[in-house]
Amino acid sequence: MDLNTRAVHVVNQPFDHGSWPLSVPLVQSSAFAFSSADELAGAMAGPDGRYVYSRRGNPTVRALEQTLAGLEGGAGAIAFASGMGAISGVLLALLKPGDRVVAQRCLYGGTFAVLSDLARRYGIEVVYVSGDEVAEFEEAAVHPAVRLLVLETIANPTGQVADLPGLLAAARRLGVTSMVDNSLASPALCRPIELGADIVVHSTTKYLSGHSDVLGGAAVFADDALRRKVWPRTVELGACADPFAAWLTLRGIPTLPLRMREHCANAAVLAERLAGRSDVTAVHYPWLAGHPSYATARKVLAGGGGLLSFELAGGREAGRAFIERVRVAKLALSLGGVESLVTHPASTSHRELDAEALEAAGIGAGLVRMSVGIEGVEDLWGDIERALAGEGGEDPGGWGHLSLLLG
Ligand SMILES: *Cc1c(COP(=O)(O)O)cnc(C)c1O
Repeated sequence: MDLNTRAVHVVNQPFDHGSWPLSVPLVQSSAFAFSSADELAGAMAGPDGRYVYSRRGNPTVRALEQTLAGLEGGAGAIAFASGMGAISGVLLALLKPGDRVVAQRCLYGGTFAVLSDLARRYGIEVVYVSGDEVAEFEEAAVHPAVRLLVLETIANPTGQVADLPGLLAAARRLGVTSMVDNSLASPALCRPIELGADIVVHSTTKYLSGHSDVLGGAAVFADDALRRKVWPRTVELGACADPFAAWLTLRGIPTLPLRMREHCANAAVLAERLAGRSDVTAVHYPWLAGHPSYATARKVLAGGGGLLSFELAGGREAGRAFIERVRVAKLALSLGGVESLVTHPASTSHRELDAEALEAAGIGAGLVRMSVGIEGVEDLWGDIERALAGEGGEDPGGWGHLSLLLG
Protein backbone atom coordinates (compact mmCIF):
# COMPACT_ATOMS: atom_id res chain seq x y z
CA MET A 1 0.00 0.00 0.00
CA ASP A 2 0.92 3.63 -0.44
CA LEU A 3 3.06 5.15 2.34
CA ASN A 4 0.29 7.67 3.10
CA THR A 5 -2.03 4.77 3.84
CA ARG A 6 0.51 2.78 5.82
CA ALA A 7 1.34 5.79 7.99
CA VAL A 8 -2.33 6.41 8.84
CA HIS A 9 -3.22 2.78 9.52
CA VAL A 10 -0.66 2.15 12.23
CA VAL A 11 -0.51 -1.37 13.55
CA ASN A 12 -2.97 -2.10 16.31
CA GLN A 13 -3.30 -5.11 18.58
CA PRO A 14 -6.44 -7.28 18.59
CA PHE A 15 -8.99 -6.09 21.14
CA ASP A 16 -11.65 -8.64 22.07
CA HIS A 17 -14.72 -6.51 22.72
CA GLY A 18 -16.48 -6.62 19.36
CA SER A 19 -15.22 -3.16 18.49
CA TRP A 20 -11.76 -1.66 18.82
CA PRO A 21 -10.17 1.72 19.50
CA LEU A 22 -9.04 3.77 16.50
CA SER A 23 -5.95 4.97 18.33
CA VAL A 24 -3.36 2.61 19.83
CA PRO A 25 -4.06 2.09 23.56
CA LEU A 26 -1.38 3.37 25.92
CA VAL A 27 -0.42 0.44 28.16
CA GLN A 28 1.45 2.33 30.87
CA SER A 29 2.47 -0.68 32.94
CA SER A 30 5.95 -1.82 33.99
CA ALA A 31 4.96 -5.49 34.46
CA PHE A 32 2.27 -8.00 33.44
CA ALA A 33 0.52 -10.54 35.66
CA PHE A 34 0.14 -14.28 34.98
CA SER A 35 -1.98 -17.01 36.55
CA SER A 36 0.60 -19.77 36.16
CA ALA A 37 4.36 -20.02 36.88
CA ASP A 38 4.93 -22.03 33.70
CA GLU A 39 3.28 -19.38 31.54
CA LEU A 40 5.41 -16.65 33.10
CA ALA A 41 8.58 -18.72 32.61
CA GLY A 42 7.60 -19.55 29.01
CA ALA A 43 7.01 -15.88 28.22
CA MET A 44 10.63 -15.06 29.03
CA ALA A 45 12.05 -17.05 26.11
CA GLY A 46 12.44 -14.35 23.46
CA PRO A 47 11.37 -11.00 22.06
CA ASP A 48 7.96 -12.05 20.74
CA GLY A 49 6.33 -14.01 23.55
CA ARG A 50 3.71 -12.72 25.96
CA TYR A 51 4.44 -9.45 27.71
CA VAL A 52 6.29 -9.91 31.01
CA TYR A 53 8.13 -6.72 31.86
CA SER A 54 8.20 -3.54 29.77
CA ARG A 55 12.01 -3.41 29.37
CA ARG A 56 11.57 -6.64 27.38
CA GLY A 57 8.39 -5.68 25.55
CA ASN A 58 5.20 -3.68 25.89
CA PRO A 59 2.06 -3.62 23.68
CA THR A 60 2.28 0.12 22.90
CA VAL A 61 6.02 -0.14 22.20
CA ARG A 62 5.47 -3.21 20.04
CA ALA A 63 2.81 -1.37 18.02
CA LEU A 64 5.43 1.33 17.32
CA GLU A 65 8.02 -1.30 16.39
CA GLN A 66 5.65 -2.99 13.95
CA THR A 67 4.61 0.35 12.48
CA LEU A 68 8.22 1.40 11.89
CA ALA A 69 9.12 -2.00 10.40
CA GLY A 70 6.15 -1.60 8.05
CA LEU A 71 7.11 1.94 6.98
CA GLU A 72 10.76 1.04 6.37
CA GLY A 73 10.01 -2.29 4.70
CA GLY A 74 11.88 -4.24 7.40
CA ALA A 75 11.18 -7.62 9.00
CA GLY A 76 11.14 -6.22 12.55
CA ALA A 77 12.23 -3.35 14.76
CA ILE A 78 13.34 -2.47 18.28
CA ALA A 79 12.27 0.85 19.80
CA PHE A 80 14.67 2.72 22.09
CA ALA A 81 14.65 5.59 24.57
CA SER A 82 16.46 7.88 22.11
CA GLY A 83 18.27 7.89 18.79
CA MET A 84 21.58 7.54 20.60
CA GLY A 85 20.12 4.61 22.55
CA ALA A 86 19.40 2.89 19.23
CA ILE A 87 22.80 3.68 17.72
CA SER A 88 24.82 2.72 20.84
CA GLY A 89 22.65 -0.36 21.30
CA VAL A 90 23.26 -1.66 17.78
CA LEU A 91 27.00 -0.87 17.90
CA LEU A 92 27.48 -2.56 21.29
CA ALA A 93 25.40 -5.57 20.24
CA LEU A 94 27.33 -6.20 17.02
CA LEU A 95 30.93 -5.19 17.77
CA LYS A 96 33.68 -6.78 19.86
CA PRO A 97 37.29 -5.74 20.53
CA GLY A 98 39.45 -6.08 17.42
CA ASP A 99 36.58 -5.39 15.01
CA ARG A 100 36.76 -2.63 12.47
CA VAL A 101 34.00 -0.20 11.41
CA VAL A 102 33.94 1.75 8.16
CA ALA A 103 31.99 4.99 8.64
CA GLN A 104 31.04 8.03 6.62
CA ARG A 105 33.24 11.00 7.57
CA CYS A 106 30.42 13.55 7.95
CA LEU A 107 28.48 11.87 10.79
CA TYR A 108 26.05 13.05 13.45
CA GLY A 109 28.16 14.31 16.40
CA GLY A 110 26.74 11.76 18.86
CA THR A 111 27.51 8.85 16.54
CA PHE A 112 31.02 10.19 15.99
CA ALA A 113 31.46 10.45 19.78
CA VAL A 114 30.32 6.88 20.49
CA LEU A 115 32.53 5.47 17.71
CA SER A 116 35.53 7.44 19.05
CA ASP A 117 34.81 6.15 22.55
CA LEU A 118 34.51 2.54 21.36
CA ALA A 119 37.79 2.97 19.49
CA ARG A 120 39.60 4.34 22.54
CA ARG A 121 38.21 2.06 25.23
CA TYR A 122 37.34 -1.19 23.46
CA GLY A 123 39.98 -1.47 20.73
CA ILE A 124 37.50 -1.13 17.88
CA GLU A 125 39.10 0.51 14.88
CA VAL A 126 37.12 3.07 12.86
CA VAL A 127 38.09 3.91 9.29
CA TYR A 128 36.42 6.97 7.74
CA VAL A 129 35.42 7.25 4.09
CA SER A 130 33.67 9.98 2.10
CA GLY A 131 30.43 8.07 1.49
CA ASP A 132 30.50 9.15 -2.17
CA GLU A 133 32.78 6.51 -3.69
CA VAL A 134 32.23 2.77 -3.89
CA ALA A 135 35.90 2.04 -4.75
CA GLU A 136 37.13 3.89 -1.65
CA PHE A 137 34.73 1.88 0.55
CA GLU A 138 35.72 -1.42 -1.10
CA GLU A 139 39.37 -0.70 -0.42
CA ALA A 140 38.61 0.01 3.25
CA ALA A 141 36.26 -2.99 3.59
CA VAL A 142 38.39 -5.83 2.24
CA HIS A 143 40.20 -6.15 5.61
CA PRO A 144 38.88 -9.30 7.38
CA ALA A 145 38.21 -7.41 10.65
CA VAL A 146 35.61 -5.11 9.01
CA ARG A 147 32.19 -5.86 10.54
CA LEU A 148 30.04 -2.83 9.97
CA LEU A 149 29.43 0.03 7.54
CA VAL A 150 27.87 3.16 9.09
CA LEU A 151 26.14 5.69 6.81
CA GLU A 152 23.58 8.49 6.97
CA THR A 153 20.93 9.18 4.33
CA ILE A 154 21.29 12.98 4.64
CA ALA A 155 24.25 14.30 6.63
CA ASN A 156 24.10 17.38 8.80
CA PRO A 157 24.88 20.29 8.25
CA THR A 158 26.37 19.67 4.78
CA GLY A 159 23.30 18.00 3.25
CA GLN A 160 25.55 15.30 1.83
CA VAL A 161 23.57 12.33 0.49
CA ALA A 162 25.63 9.13 0.58
CA ASP A 163 25.65 6.86 -2.48
CA LEU A 164 23.42 4.33 -0.73
CA PRO A 165 22.68 2.02 -3.70
CA GLY A 166 26.37 1.67 -4.60
CA LEU A 167 27.76 1.39 -1.07
CA LEU A 168 25.04 -0.92 0.27
CA ALA A 169 25.41 -3.31 -2.69
CA ALA A 170 29.19 -3.36 -2.15
CA ALA A 171 28.70 -4.08 1.58
CA ARG A 172 26.40 -7.02 0.71
CA ARG A 173 28.99 -8.38 -1.75
CA LEU A 174 31.75 -8.15 0.87
CA GLY A 175 29.65 -9.62 3.71
CA VAL A 176 29.79 -6.39 5.77
CA THR A 177 26.66 -5.55 7.80
CA SER A 178 25.36 -2.05 7.02
CA MET A 179 23.62 0.46 9.28
CA VAL A 180 22.03 3.63 7.86
CA ASP A 181 20.87 6.53 10.05
CA ASN A 182 17.69 7.63 8.24
CA SER A 183 16.60 10.28 10.79
CA LEU A 184 16.88 13.26 8.42
CA ALA A 185 15.14 11.66 5.46
CA SER A 186 12.54 9.55 7.31
CA PRO A 187 10.81 6.70 5.47
CA ALA A 188 8.76 9.32 3.62
CA LEU A 189 11.83 10.29 1.56
CA CYS A 190 14.00 7.16 1.60
CA ARG A 191 13.74 3.53 2.66
CA PRO A 192 17.35 2.29 2.86
CA ILE A 193 16.34 -1.37 3.36
CA GLU A 194 14.86 -1.29 -0.17
CA LEU A 195 18.32 -0.14 -1.33
CA GLY A 196 20.13 -3.00 0.44
CA ALA A 197 20.68 -1.82 4.06
CA ASP A 198 20.68 -4.43 6.85
CA ILE A 199 19.76 -2.02 9.65
CA VAL A 200 18.08 1.40 9.62
CA VAL A 201 18.38 3.50 12.76
CA HIS A 202 16.28 6.53 13.68
CA SER A 203 16.13 9.32 16.12
CA THR A 204 12.32 9.22 16.22
CA THR A 205 12.70 12.45 18.21
CA LYS A 206 12.94 14.16 14.82
CA TYR A 207 10.57 13.80 11.84
CA LEU A 208 8.84 10.56 12.83
CA SER A 209 7.33 12.03 16.01
CA GLY A 210 7.54 15.51 14.51
CA HIS A 211 6.23 17.71 17.32
CA SER A 212 9.29 18.36 19.53
CA ASP A 213 7.56 16.75 22.50
CA VAL A 214 9.28 13.36 22.84
CA LEU A 215 12.68 11.64 22.72
CA GLY A 216 12.90 8.25 21.05
CA GLY A 217 14.89 6.00 18.77
CA ALA A 218 14.54 2.81 16.78
CA ALA A 219 16.45 0.20 14.85
CA VAL A 220 14.69 -1.55 11.96
CA PHE A 221 16.12 -4.82 10.63
CA ALA A 222 15.92 -6.22 7.10
CA ASP A 223 16.33 -9.74 8.47
CA ASP A 224 14.53 -10.88 11.61
CA ALA A 225 17.47 -13.10 12.66
CA LEU A 226 19.53 -9.93 13.15
CA ARG A 227 16.81 -8.36 15.30
CA ARG A 228 16.76 -11.49 17.48
CA LYS A 229 20.54 -11.29 17.83
CA VAL A 230 20.50 -7.60 18.84
CA TRP A 231 17.44 -7.79 21.14
CA PRO A 232 19.01 -9.56 24.20
CA ARG A 233 21.85 -6.98 24.24
CA THR A 234 19.36 -4.12 24.19
CA VAL A 235 17.45 -5.67 27.09
CA GLU A 236 20.75 -5.73 29.01
CA LEU A 237 21.45 -2.10 28.15
CA GLY A 238 17.99 -0.97 29.23
CA ALA A 239 17.72 1.91 26.73
CA CYS A 240 14.16 0.74 26.00
CA ALA A 241 11.33 3.00 24.85
CA ASP A 242 8.87 4.12 27.49
CA PRO A 243 5.24 3.28 26.55
CA PHE A 244 4.14 6.93 26.71
CA ALA A 245 7.05 8.03 24.50
CA ALA A 246 6.12 5.26 22.05
CA TRP A 247 2.49 6.40 22.17
CA LEU A 248 3.45 10.02 21.39
CA THR A 249 5.59 8.82 18.48
CA LEU A 250 2.66 6.76 17.15
CA ARG A 251 0.56 9.93 17.52
CA GLY A 252 2.92 11.71 15.11
CA ILE A 253 3.37 9.05 12.44
CA PRO A 254 0.05 9.29 10.53
CA THR A 255 0.93 12.86 9.45
CA LEU A 256 4.58 12.08 8.60
CA PRO A 257 4.14 12.03 4.78
CA LEU A 258 2.00 15.18 4.92
CA ARG A 259 4.44 17.04 7.17
CA MET A 260 7.41 15.90 5.12
CA ARG A 261 5.89 17.29 1.88
CA GLU A 262 5.50 20.66 3.58
CA HIS A 263 9.04 20.62 5.11
CA CYS A 264 10.49 19.82 1.67
CA ALA A 265 8.41 22.41 -0.19
CA ASN A 266 9.27 25.19 2.29
CA ALA A 267 12.98 24.31 2.44
CA ALA A 268 13.26 24.21 -1.36
CA VAL A 269 11.74 27.71 -1.70
CA LEU A 270 13.95 29.17 1.04
CA ALA A 271 17.09 27.49 -0.39
CA GLU A 272 16.39 28.90 -3.85
CA ARG A 273 15.79 32.44 -2.54
CA LEU A 274 18.78 32.38 -0.17
CA ALA A 275 21.01 31.29 -3.06
CA GLY A 276 19.99 34.46 -4.93
CA ARG A 277 21.19 36.86 -2.21
CA SER A 278 24.53 38.64 -2.22
CA ASP A 279 24.91 38.48 1.59
CA VAL A 280 24.69 34.65 1.46
CA THR A 281 27.86 33.06 0.08
CA ALA A 282 26.72 29.41 -0.03
CA VAL A 283 23.54 27.35 0.45
CA HIS A 284 23.80 23.67 1.38
CA TYR A 285 20.62 21.86 0.35
CA PRO A 286 20.76 18.63 -1.66
CA TRP A 287 17.70 19.47 -3.79
CA LEU A 288 19.38 22.66 -5.05
CA ALA A 289 21.19 22.39 -8.42
CA GLY A 290 24.92 22.74 -7.85
CA HIS A 291 24.98 20.91 -4.50
CA PRO A 292 27.70 18.19 -4.63
CA SER A 293 25.06 15.51 -3.82
CA TYR A 294 22.41 16.85 -6.22
CA ALA A 295 22.51 13.88 -8.64
CA THR A 296 22.61 11.29 -5.83
CA ALA A 297 19.79 13.04 -3.97
CA ARG A 298 17.53 12.95 -7.06
CA LYS A 299 18.23 9.21 -7.34
CA VAL A 300 17.93 8.22 -3.67
CA LEU A 301 15.42 10.65 -2.11
CA ALA A 302 11.81 11.59 -2.83
CA GLY A 303 12.49 15.20 -1.71
CA GLY A 304 15.26 17.38 -0.33
CA GLY A 305 14.17 17.19 3.32
CA GLY A 306 13.70 19.99 5.83
CA LEU A 307 17.27 20.69 6.84
CA LEU A 308 19.02 23.58 5.17
CA SER A 309 22.21 25.46 5.96
CA PHE A 310 23.70 28.61 4.54
CA GLU A 311 26.82 30.72 4.97
CA LEU A 312 26.53 34.41 5.73
CA ALA A 313 29.07 36.73 4.13
CA GLY A 314 29.42 38.57 7.44
CA GLY A 315 31.00 35.51 9.13
CA ARG A 316 30.76 34.69 12.82
CA GLU A 317 29.19 37.97 13.96
CA ALA A 318 26.54 37.88 11.24
CA GLY A 319 25.63 34.27 12.11
CA ARG A 320 25.27 35.05 15.78
CA ALA A 321 23.19 38.17 15.12
CA PHE A 322 20.94 36.28 12.68
CA ILE A 323 19.92 33.55 15.12
CA GLU A 324 19.09 36.14 17.77
CA ARG A 325 17.01 38.27 15.36
CA VAL A 326 14.67 35.67 13.87
CA ARG A 327 11.24 35.58 15.49
CA VAL A 328 9.14 33.04 13.59
CA ALA A 329 12.03 30.54 13.69
CA LYS A 330 13.31 29.78 17.18
CA LEU A 331 16.89 29.51 18.38
CA ALA A 332 17.16 25.88 19.46
CA LEU A 333 19.04 22.67 18.76
CA SER A 334 17.24 19.61 17.39
CA LEU A 335 15.33 19.42 14.11
CA GLY A 336 12.40 17.71 12.44
CA GLY A 337 9.57 19.32 14.39
CA VAL A 338 6.70 21.30 12.90
CA GLU A 339 8.31 24.60 14.00
CA SER A 340 11.34 26.16 12.31
CA LEU A 341 14.56 26.20 14.35
CA VAL A 342 17.91 27.89 13.72
CA THR A 343 21.37 27.40 15.18
CA HIS A 344 24.76 28.91 14.48
CA PRO A 345 27.33 26.17 15.24
CA ALA A 346 30.30 28.60 15.43
CA SER A 347 28.76 30.46 18.39
CA THR A 348 26.87 27.54 20.01
CA SER A 349 27.65 23.80 19.61
CA HIS A 350 31.12 24.36 18.07
CA ARG A 351 32.12 27.59 19.87
CA GLU A 352 35.38 26.10 21.22
CA LEU A 353 36.72 25.66 17.68
CA ASP A 354 38.86 28.40 16.10
CA ALA A 355 38.50 29.35 12.42
CA GLU A 356 40.92 26.64 11.28
CA ALA A 357 39.25 23.83 13.28
CA LEU A 358 35.82 24.96 12.07
CA GLU A 359 36.97 24.78 8.48
CA ALA A 360 38.40 21.27 9.05
CA ALA A 361 34.96 20.24 10.36
CA GLY A 362 33.37 21.68 7.20
CA ILE A 363 31.56 24.41 9.13
CA GLY A 364 31.98 28.00 8.01
CA ALA A 365 32.15 30.68 10.72
CA GLY A 366 28.99 32.24 9.26
CA LEU A 367 27.10 28.97 8.78
CA VAL A 368 23.49 28.99 9.96
CA ARG A 369 21.59 25.72 10.17
CA MET A 370 17.85 25.85 9.79
CA SER A 371 15.38 23.07 10.42
CA VAL A 372 12.59 24.34 8.19
CA GLY A 373 9.16 23.83 9.73
CA ILE A 374 5.69 23.76 8.21
CA GLU A 375 4.74 27.42 8.83
CA GLY A 376 3.62 29.61 5.93
CA VAL A 377 6.63 29.98 3.65
CA GLU A 378 6.19 33.75 3.20
CA ASP A 379 6.25 34.23 6.99
CA LEU A 380 9.51 32.26 7.13
CA TRP A 381 11.00 34.21 4.24
CA GLY A 382 9.94 37.55 5.74
CA ASP A 383 11.55 36.49 9.04
CA ILE A 384 14.82 35.60 7.25
CA GLU A 385 14.83 38.83 5.21
CA ARG A 386 14.26 40.97 8.31
CA ALA A 387 16.95 39.13 10.29
CA LEU A 388 19.42 39.52 7.39
CA ALA A 389 18.59 43.22 7.17
CA GLY A 390 19.40 43.61 10.85
CA GLU A 391 15.81 44.02 12.03
CA GLY A 392 13.95 42.01 14.62
CA GLY A 393 10.41 40.88 13.82
CA GLU A 394 7.25 40.02 15.64
CA ASP A 395 7.04 36.82 17.65
CA PRO A 396 3.90 35.01 16.39
CA GLY A 397 3.49 32.75 19.39
CA GLY A 398 5.71 33.60 22.28
CA TRP A 399 5.24 31.84 25.56
CA GLY A 400 1.87 33.19 26.67
CA HIS A 401 0.60 29.69 27.28
CA LEU A 402 3.56 28.99 29.59
CA SER A 403 2.77 31.96 31.81
CA LEU A 404 -0.76 30.56 32.10
CA LEU A 405 0.74 27.33 33.42
CA LEU A 406 3.45 28.81 35.60
CA GLY A 407 1.46 31.73 36.98
C1 LIG B 1 19.26 13.75 16.71
C2 LIG B 1 19.98 12.71 15.94
C3 LIG B 1 20.47 11.55 16.56
C4 LIG B 1 20.37 11.32 18.05
O1 LIG B 1 19.07 11.16 18.44
P1 LIG B 1 18.52 11.46 19.94
O2 LIG B 1 17.10 11.09 19.85
O3 LIG B 1 18.80 12.90 20.22
O4 LIG B 1 19.32 10.58 20.85
C5 LIG B 1 21.10 10.61 15.77
N1 LIG B 1 21.27 10.80 14.45
C6 LIG B 1 20.82 11.91 13.82
C7 LIG B 1 21.03 12.04 12.37
C8 LIG B 1 20.17 12.90 14.54
O5 LIG B 1 19.74 14.01 13.92
